[in-house]
Amino acid sequence: NDQINLIKEHLKSYKDFPKQGVVFQDIFSVLQNPKIANVLYDVLLNKAKSIKPPVECIAGVDSRGFLFGSVLARELEIPFIPIRKKGKLPGSTKSVHYKLEYKEDDLEMQEGVVREGQKVLVVDDLLATGGSLSAACELLSQAKADVQCLVVIELSELQGRKIINVPIHSLIVC
Ligand code: IMP
Repeated sequence: NDQINLIKEHLKSYKDFPKQGVVFQDIFSVLQNPKIANVLYDVLLNKAKSIKPPVECIAGVDSRGFLFGSVLARELEIPFIPIRKKGKLPGSTKSVHYKLEYKEDDLEMQEGVVREGQKVLVVDDLLATGGSLSAACELLSQAKADVQCLVVIELSELQGRKIINVPIHSLIVC
């Protein structure tokens, strides 16, 4: 569709960043143009509104998930919760360890921020191998939330959705 094509045209990619062999998709290039950024926010909001059953809470993944997630939470007038790299969140937290292609890390969520059965939408900018998103989903599943995911960009070649066992919505597939 026209809106998606417009966003794609403004999406810059960088070869061999952050390392050799990786083509980095830079979503911030889209935000440099306020008109195109608005198109992106509109498409994202419409996608989030179309999800059934209706989303009750947004969980943003560190760090670009905070940006898109908080815009959605504001528009939908629902809570926003952060899922962060280890050691950043105060109070009692739950954590999951996860492995990416070249590194390992932990993601954390504060305790008591979601309730059992709550419809939570996990938001991030990009789905690559799926390591980050599946760790975020694991945290929310452990808290017994009802989880779906929304990403702006899905790199389909890496087949990240194969390791995630909840519904995944993506705007741009490349
Ligand atoms: P995954 O865990 O391999 O699916 O990688 C997804 C995470 O890494 C997301 O949080 C992204 O922000 C980041 N990431 C991986 N590749 C890219 C890219 O090409 N552009 C921007 N972010 C990326």
